[in-house]
Amino acid sequence: MKIWEVPGQAHAVRILRDAVEHDQVGHAWAFSGPPDVGQRGLARSLAAALNCEVAVAGCGTCSSCARTLRGAHPAYWEFAPTGAAHRVGEVRDSWMRVASRTSNEGRYKVLRIVDADRMNEAAANAFLKVLEEPPEHTVWILELADPEELPDTVLSRCRVVRAAPWGRDTMMQVAGGAPLTVDQELAVRASMGAPVRLHTLLTDQGRADLHRHRCIPRELRERNQGFALIAARELDEEMKRAVAEIQEEAKRELAELQHVYGDSAPKDVVRQVEQRTTRREREVKTIVAQTALDDLAGWYRDVLMVRCGGDPADALHADDDEGLRADAAALSERALLRSLETIFVRREEMEFNVQMSLAVEALLMDLATLALEG
Ligand SMILES: [Zn+2]
Repeated sequence: MKIWEVPGQAHAVRILRDAVEHDQVGHAWAFSGPPDVGQRGLARSLAAALNCEVAVAGCGTCSSCARTLRGAHPAYWEFAPTGAAHRVGEVRDSWMRVASRTSNEGRYKVLRIVDADRMNEAAANAFLKVLEEPPEHTVWILELADPEELPDTVLSRCRVVRAAPWGRDTMMQVAGGAPLTVDQELAVRASMGAPVRLHTLLTDQGRADLHRHRCIPRELRERNQGFALIAARELDEEMKRAVAEIQEEAKRELAELQHVYGDSAPKDVVRQVEQRTTRREREVKTIVAQTALDDLAGWYRDVLMVRCGGDPADALHADDDEGLRADAAALSERALLRSLETIFVRREEMEFNVQMSLAVEALLMDLATLALEG
């Protein structure tokens, strides 16, 4: 990434740059807004600027800037919850220890707390003590999807900046800028404002997955119930692939740590990466399954719209006009509504500890029955 180039966040960038240029950075910021809209870019840009040796607002290219922007600088830290919440042990043993450790590089230490609204009460109380007596030259960045989740006592000690949700303009910019190709346009529409989903859909693999998901209703109809099992197995493969990607990412992260510290990477930080990886491996299966269900629901909704006389050009899946018309001709309104209902019920069940592969299989069998009834 390039310093201060954060799509859709011009407002936040202006505030942060201004604070750096006027030497008014303070010791705590809260970025409030939906997850993954550019908080990482904002945090890394701020950290790079604070430690740049070349330019006041950061040059973006010196060794210090380059490493910070990659997230591999000894004065820049990112902490994501390793379980459902940030716990008091993590605040004391990781965050506070890192904040008080002297680093041999960088004037400012910047600590980015991902999902800071997931601090439990004990963690928030421990953290409040830090904010009441902030260590010098330490800047905390708290990311909050829901600022109300954090005690006022903590929030009132932070300068709040809004990280704006992505509108269509930002989505288009990230997708490649106007005019969009058919594939980019589909990615923008089908991601429905979700940045992470957009990035996935802009890859060949992500697009191939989406295409496979939306063909499921037709295949169920044409290839009978047995296809439900094939589709379930394919989704299973998709989950395994996602888990493997997370493991690769963790390997890269640990390699970066080793690069920064040689063999003496702080054990608590290494452990954090490992624990977070375990959590994400668990989470990602649910995310993959739910995403597939969202794709399916989006498709069924489009088909229903076309079936009721709507224009396929207004559909999310406007690029597959033929497929939409074919499914609209084959499936009754009742079958479509019941399919959607089944998807929503199963999707909600997945929030709890269900066996993901079995849940997907059961759903596909239900959809097959509805498809065959027509
Ligand atoms: Zn620099």
